[in-house]
Amino acid sequence: MPSRSRPAKRATKPRDDIVGPVDARQIPRYAGLGTFARLPQSSEVKNADIAILGVPFDAGTTYRPGARFGPQAIRQASRLLRPYDPALDTEPWSTQQVVDGGDVGANPFSIPEALAATERDIARLLAAGTRVVTLGGDHTITLGALRAVHRRFGPVSLVHFDAHLDTWDTYFGASITHGSFLRRAAEEGLFLDSASTHVGIRGPLYGRRDLVEDAELGFRIVHCVELDEIGVSGAVERIRSRTGAHPLYLSIDIDVLDPAHAPGTGTPEVGGLSTRELLALVEGLSGLNVVGADVVEVAPSYDHAEITSLAAATVVYKVLSLLAVSKPAKASGGRRNPG
Ligand code: MN
Ligand code: MN
Repeated sequence: MPSRSRPAKRATKPRDDIVGPVDARQIPRYAGLGTFARLPQSSEVKNADIAILGVPFDAGTTYRPGARFGPQAIRQASRLLRPYDPALDTEPWSTQQVVDGGDVGANPFSIPEALAATERDIARLLAAGTRVVTLGGDHTITLGALRAVHRRFGPVSLVHFDAHLDTWDTYFGASITHGSFLRRAAEEGLFLDSASTHVGIRGPLYGRRDLVEDAELGFRIVHCVELDEIGVSGAVERIRSRTGAHPLYLSIDIDVLDPAHAPGTGTPEVGGLSTRELLALVEGLSGLNVVGADVVEVAPSYDHAEITSLAAATVVYKVLSLLAVSKPAKASGGRRNPG
């Protein structure tokens, strides 16, 4: 079963030159300033392999606002993470230099400007050879991330975990919202229409046509209810065979989880994945060519006891593990910049 298989020997080795997080056995994990997992900031290291980048922005939200506080809440919940991931047999921040890149200065009153700032900051990191894991923010910010990734790697295979399609056309006349950004991404040719998948889709739609139009954009769907029949390993197989060897961008809307597992989000939808299922699905993508990822839509005001932000922090950790065991990312054209 691919989703839980363990490598025969250790996939990655710890490196000597890495600046790691503050050691929780020396300074308690609830003490000190809160970068993601208490990792160093970008300014504290010379070269970073991976940067965690917050985008505190929620002006593309259609229902409950508040995802602008997502990055801060995810960082707070990430204090509990530990260095060794037994499921993928790796130490995600001892085998690669991971930093907290801080937050994008996203304009709260202009979606185009916020997206441009997000694209610019991510593009700068990618140009320096740093892969980026973005913390939302509402899902609109993924459009900025995809634009930056496209500039570096060309069209990518998009694996999109979400209760919702996010391919609606417009909402109240607005063309870029968290429910329509994927249609804009399709129009801009940012992802491969032959290699992209939605996972976890469920709930009522405006009409049957929503699914037809989504399929016309090239997406295939692993519906949430299908998990009951094909299981995590069946879903992993379908995603992997569709992505193949293409560069992969992973976008995880935390509302793919059931509201019992993620109440703190903008557009909750019942009948969703458990946290355990989501972690197993992400683990199942190990070995693919992951070039970037985001975890979005954490809205802490609706959360209880950090259920949602802890889930998001752990999913980010799992993505870091994936990056640690993935094939190194290659740019589509030109030479890779040093660093
Ligand atoms: Mn959603
Ligand atoms: Mn979404």
